[in-house]
Parts: sequence; C-alpha cells; structure tokens
Amino acid sequence: MEKLIDTHCHLNDDYFWGNAEEYINNFENDNLQYAFVVGYDFVSSKRALELAEKHENVYAIIGMHPSDAEKWNVEFEEFLTNNLPNKKVLALGEIGLDYHYENFSKQTQKQVFIKQLEIANKLGVPIVIHERDAVGDVVDILRQNKHLINNGGVVHCFNESVETYKIYKGFGLKFSFGGAITFKNSKNAPKLLAEVDVKDILLETDCPYLTPEPLRGKERNQPKNVFLVAKKIAEIKNMDLNELIKQTNKNVLSVFTKLKEI
Ligand SMILES: [Zn+2]
Repeated sequence: MEKLIDTHCHLNDDYFWGNAEEYINNFENDNLQYAFVVGYDFVSSKRALELAEKHENVYAIIGMHPSDAEKWNVEFEEFLTNNLPNKKVLALGEIGLDYHYENFSKQTQKQVFIKQLEIANKLGVPIVIHERDAVGDVVDILRQNKHLINNGGVVHCFNESVETYKIYKGFGLKFSFGGAITFKNSKNAPKLLAEVDVKDILLETDCPYLTPEPLRGKERNQPKNVFLVAKKIAEIKNMDLNELIKQTNKNVLSVFTKLKEI
C-alpha cells in the first residue's frame, strides 16, 4: 500500500515529549512516510524543529496558535524569520483565530494572525490555518489581506459548510481532515466530503487529540491513526483506498513545495 503522510501532528506536545522518538522509529512499520510536527508557541515550535532536524521522516511547521497569541514577542518573530527558510520547515502554522474559549483577546489574536500572514508572505512560505468558532472573522481577515496570500496553505481539521469550503478554496487553500470526520455524531462530514474535490484533501491526526473511531475514548491519538482517517474518506467518497492515499500525497507536494527539493 501507498505510504501515508500525517500532515498535522503534535509529537512536540508534553504528552509525547520524552518518547516521541519511539513513535518516529516505528513510522516504517506503521506505513508512514512523513509526519509534519506543528508548533503552536515558542517551545513547541522549537521542539518541532528539533525533531525535524534529527529525523529524515519528520518535517516542522512553526508558528503561534491563536490561543497563545498573548505570548507573541520580538524573539519569536526573529525565530520565525530565521527558521522558516530552513529546508526542514515546510510552513508557518498553526495560525488563525479561536473563539471557543472566551478568555483570549480577539484583538490580540487578529493582530498576531495578520502579523504571521505578513511574515509568511515575505518569506514565501505556505500557511496552516487553525480556525474554531471564528469562521466569519478568519474569512474577513483573508479578504482584507488577500495580497498576503500568495503561497497557498491548508485549513486544518476542516469541518465547516460547503459554502465555507468554496470561500477558502478561492484563496488557493487546501483542507486537511482528521479524526473528527470518523465520529459517529458527525453529520456534517459526509455531506461536506461528498462535495470536496479529492484534489483538495490532505490527511492529518492532530494527535494526541481527536482519536478516530473505533479507537476513540480508548487511547490517545498517534500519527499511525491517519490510516483510519484515510479509510473513512475513501469510504465516504467511494474510492479505492490506495488511490485516495496516492492523490492526497500528491496534494501534499503541491502545497508544501519544499518536499520536492529533498
Ligand atoms: Zn494542531
């Protein structure tokens, strides 16, 4: 079978830190080609970089998550500017807006999001967007800053309406799907995925969160479970599983263009 790529995982999370290598050393057996470790603040971005520099099958994505926007400072900005050109750093992320928890300033989130769009554009790298309960404002910011969106990117854990899919697609973005689409109560996912072009789909786990069915509630998520996500999408789209994986891998190369340089 075609090897899988987990385009969004958090082996840099405290849950994995200390034994992340055990998982990475198993990638070969788990039929995983690559995992992209995504940063959400300074510490996690440095950890992502550390793993990427040590392991051939790991790449880093570095950035400041909206829920950590208050931690933005000059040092982090310099860190991004210095490290985004690294050949093992694929993109700037995860960035965006998250209004799920009300204790984070919307104003700060917006400023830090826009600042990172500017940096990504200046350095010519794609972006990875995190958006939760904030779709209206994310779309507004993308519209107002259209001139900064020139290098593509991915909306991660995508589970919005078909209309929203079309709007994001208009900005040249692609979409990664994770464990949430396998949940038994997910009524939206089958409807949405039926409409999403297979050329727009990437696979992710967002581990250690969002364990897919049938493992949900039984164990913490890990990169190899990206297989369960692929299986579910192939089922919904009535596609051969191997063909689906092949196509999603092609899509990965089309967004994260540095992979081609290797
Ligand atoms: Zn994430």
